[in-house]
Amino acid sequence: MRELISISAALETLLPRMIPAAGEEIDLCEARGRVAFEDVRAHMSIPPFARSPYDGYAFAARDVEGAGKYSPVTLRVVREIAAGSPAGEGIGPGEAVKLMTGAPVPTGADTVVKFETTEFTEEAVSIFEPSSPGRDVIPAGEDVLAGDVIIAKGELIDAAVSGMLAAQGLSRVKVYVRPVAGILSTGSELAGRTELIGDGKIHDSNRYSLGAACAGLGLSVRFIGTRADSPEGIAEAVKKGLEDCDLLLTTGGVSVGDYDYTASASEAAGVGMLVRNVNMKPGGTCAIGMKGEKPVFCLSGNPASSLIAFYVLAQPCLKKLCGHRDPRNPAIQVKLAHGIKKASPKPRLVRGALDLSDGTARLVPHEGQGNGVLRSMKGCNLIGLIPEGSPPQKAGAEITAWLVDSL
Ligand code: AMP
Ligand code: MG
Repeated sequence: MRELISISAALETLLPRMIPAAGEEIDLCEARGRVAFEDVRAHMSIPPFARSPYDGYAFAARDVEGAGKYSPVTLRVVREIAAGSPAGEGIGPGEAVKLMTGAPVPTGADTVVKFETTEFTEEAVSIFEPSSPGRDVIPAGEDVLAGDVIIAKGELIDAAVSGMLAAQGLSRVKVYVRPVAGILSTGSELAGRTELIGDGKIHDSNRYSLGAACAGLGLSVRFIGTRADSPEGIAEAVKKGLEDCDLLLTTGGVSVGDYDYTASASEAAGVGMLVRNVNMKPGGTCAIGMKGEKPVFCLSGNPASSLIAFYVLAQPCLKKLCGHRDPRNPAIQVKLAHGIKKASPKPRLVRGALDLSDGTARLVPHEGQGNGVLRSMKGCNLIGLIPEGSPPQKAGAEITAWLVDSL
């Protein structure tokens, strides 16, 4: 029997072939969760001017060098600056300005004190302690300096970046186009709308679980349809799906049974297979290939296997298509919170959740690790990897695990 390809070798084969999507300019309001298509540099510093962190008085620190609790220095208040008003003329020795939170600090002033620490009239303010240049002045560029990269090509736009771009006065941003993922469910057991469930027929759940997983990555999702186990029907749907979409995910019929046609029908539709079965359990039964620049992931019909294979094999590829500069699942070292009773002749993927409650990163394996057990994928944010040939694992055993985002 041919040796199975490892997960890492499969990704090494696939990832370089994934060509990121084109760019488009969108409104900043729509940009959260999208991937930046180019570096965006600040054209101005933020804040653009030195400003006051609170309501108080600004003056030159050297003017209050000798100030003390019983020997205040009194400065002449030359004017008031509200937030939004210009700084106006600079101030001279012995002078102060009254200013509000966010107001610009005029030249000549290099420190600010709060109202509460002073005594004041309309015309004068008494200062009771020395200060130092720069104290309590928010300098121009405290947040961002002109020329800084606010977001780099391939990074995700989050809430903070949206705000930083808006602070530059930008209202549009260039992002990668969302690739369109086509989903094709195969299997003669999948019920049509009018068919009764039970007695051999089931609802198609993979369409929705994989569709949700794609949507979670920011892809557009198109359902190609359901096909019975027939080579012609599947080949026609794969061909059509690839005309309409940027990539295809199929489920079912990828094993070696009498009615497993997905891989061969995809090949008949022009897909060149690059990976045929991966050394992992569950989800290892799969066929992954390309037609031109468009990848096709033929995954198992088993609901949990297909979703695990999606996270481990498809997700890094799809993230690359979406423009992510670091598309791989982040790997961390964790301890198993419970033991794993079975030995692992093949690399075993254990689904569960990350527990950090006692300060150690632990994988809490979810109950029900079978191929068809989708309930244990609920809330799964960590997939542990038990190496090939491992005996049963004890609680506390250290393993590598991939962080995945199941939302
Ligand atoms: P297969 O990969 O075709 O051998 O199917 C494996 C198992 O997954 C069988 O029990 C199928 O009934 C089930 N299955 C296949 N496709 C789906 C689907 N779209 N939704 C839910 N279960 C499915
Ligand atoms: Mg089948």
